[in-house]
Amino acid sequence: MTREPLRVVFLDRDGVINHDSPDYIRRWSDVRFIPGSLSAVRMLNDAGFAVIVVTNQSAVHRGLISPVELDRIHRNMKRAAAAAGGCITDVFFCPHLPEEGCDCRKPRPGLIRRARNKYPIDLEKSYMVGDRTTDIECARRAGCGGAVLVSAGNTAAFPGVDEGPHPDMTVVNLPEAARWIIRNASRK
Ligand SMILES: [Mg+2]
Ligand SMILES: [Zn+2]
Repeated sequence: MTREPLRVVFLDRDGVINHDSPDYIRRWSDVRFIPGSLSAVRMLNDAGFAVIVVTNQSAVHRGLISPVELDRIHRNMKRAAAAAGGCITDVFFCPHLPEEGCDCRKPRPGLIRRARNKYPIDLEKSYMVGDRTTDIECARRAGCGGAVLVSAGNTAAFPGVDEGPHPDMTVVNLPEAARWIIRNASRK
């Protein structure tokens, strides 16, 4: 039996699902969901997309958060999405520092490659939503069909918009990104 390949919307975490913090997200009580982000997960699921989170978490190798606590955050986040009627299928994170030169820290495409090794994903019909141009570059390098930049929770990232690869669309938050993706996918 062959499995139908998944259409996935890859989500950056900090600045997309929850507000980012200059002090890093170190524990579950630091997580503040951006309004509408969890119902946007459900909206994407209802339109036939699986949702997978891909996130740089150098706080792990900086010693600011333990892998156990990071896992707790992600389990609670999945539970919160489920309580809103949606599903976060999986979370892939990069624990490395920039200077470690790993293959998974965005803008490198390693996290999306790992997701594709685990699940049958149709990358051309998949999208990425992020709040930094490194997310957009990651999507391009991995071969995603589309990439959307959001400004919610991290307006400081926006001066970088003119640098690096251009997104297919720029919107204010994840609900807007979800609506655009659903419209865009229906036209393809
Ligand atoms: Mg981010
Ligand atoms: Zn890494």
